[in-house]
Amino acid sequence: MNNPFPLEKLQKIQTPFYYYDMGLLEQTLNVVKTESQKYGFVVHYAIKANANLRLLEAIRSFGFGVDCVSGYEVKKALESGFKPSGIVFAGVGKSDWEIELGIENDISCFNVESVPELEVINEIAASKNKTISVALRINPNVNAHTHHYITTGLEENKFGIYQWDLERVTNAIKEMKNIRLEGLHFHIGSQITDLDTFKDLCIRVNEIQDWFISQQLFPRIINVGGGLGIDYYQPDTNPIPDFAGYFKMFKTFLKVLPNQEVHFELGRSLVAQSGSLITKVLYIKEGVQTKFAIVDAGMTDLIRPALYQAYHKIENLSSVAPEEKYDVVGPICESSDCFGKALFLPKSARGDFFAIRSAGAYGEIMASQYNLRELPKAYYSDSI
Ligand SMILES: *Cc1c(COP(=O)(O)O)cnc(C)c1O
Repeated sequence: MNNPFPLEKLQKIQTPFYYYDMGLLEQTLNVVKTESQKYGFVVHYAIKANANLRLLEAIRSFGFGVDCVSGYEVKKALESGFKPSGIVFAGVGKSDWEIELGIENDISCFNVESVPELEVINEIAASKNKTISVALRINPNVNAHTHHYITTGLEENKFGIYQWDLERVTNAIKEMKNIRLEGLHFHIGSQITDLDTFKDLCIRVNEIQDWFISQQLFPRIINVGGGLGIDYYQPDTNPIPDFAGYFKMFKTFLKVLPNQEVHFELGRSLVAQSGSLITKVLYIKEGVQTKFAIVDAGMTDLIRPALYQAYHKIENLSSVAPEEKYDVVGPICESSDCFGKALFLPKSARGDFFAIRSAGAYGEIMASQYNLRELPKAYYSDSI
């Protein structure tokens, strides 16, 4: 499948900007819906990946819920028309106002990570005469084999309740009158491309669930988080992740009790391939050993390469000349403001348009105004 860039139209727009392929987004959401419904799985979209309103509209139209990690995200989800019953709220450090906001709006579930947090939720819920559903985020100590900054399911990470602490936590919940233990929650990391990792997760979840059952606790929801990765190297060959294989893994290896729901919180895999950052070459600068293509987008527009050494495929949309080797760098006053080193691209010149691919997740949403730059705007394939 080829991702078509309407260059003539794009050239009329002030760079840099995000460009979203709405057709691909719809196709992706369609596959997610079809494959998850085969097994009755419930999908929430992790809104932190991208909170662009057009994208949220599309996601909502498919009936998915939302996974939020801040009160601002809860607000945004409500404002963009998601039902409170489809909103869950996770996060290791929720402020009191964020908890209040969730409680007042009757969101479906808080994913809770510590006893002190449970105490605050219980207290606020009591003051409002409500009983709140919580899922315990448990750190399953499963290695996601991904970049260490986006690994979250190991005991050395700050996330989740550690297994050796479970008894203390469940005992505490028994004393809390305004809290109902509704589910178990796991999220082991992001950009996971080896599906066997999810098999490891299932096996650990089964063990943990067995412990709960032995305590006469029967969680109604098993939430296995998100983390499914995408192909940053070949976005045109693999525009849609292997959702069929992914959901099948859970169907095969996760032990599900009667009447139990299995929930997912997918972020990147839903939106990443639909977005590209479009930028223009300002100058070609010849270094001693290196030729630099200096573009007008910077780490302020897309920080993943600078922050995680992430790879994004870069294409020159304007040139079909023989390839040369370039470092593609931005204008920001930081050496890490580099989108890729020693890349082979068609011979490039001032004014050429580049597409930095697979930028639909953790791109626009992580943009900053460092150097007092303006935030990048967004354009859509169905309306340019
Ligand atoms: C970030 C996050 C997700 C989504 O992760 P992806 O890798 O984008 O799928 C899901 N759940 C929680 C709790 C998260 O923090």
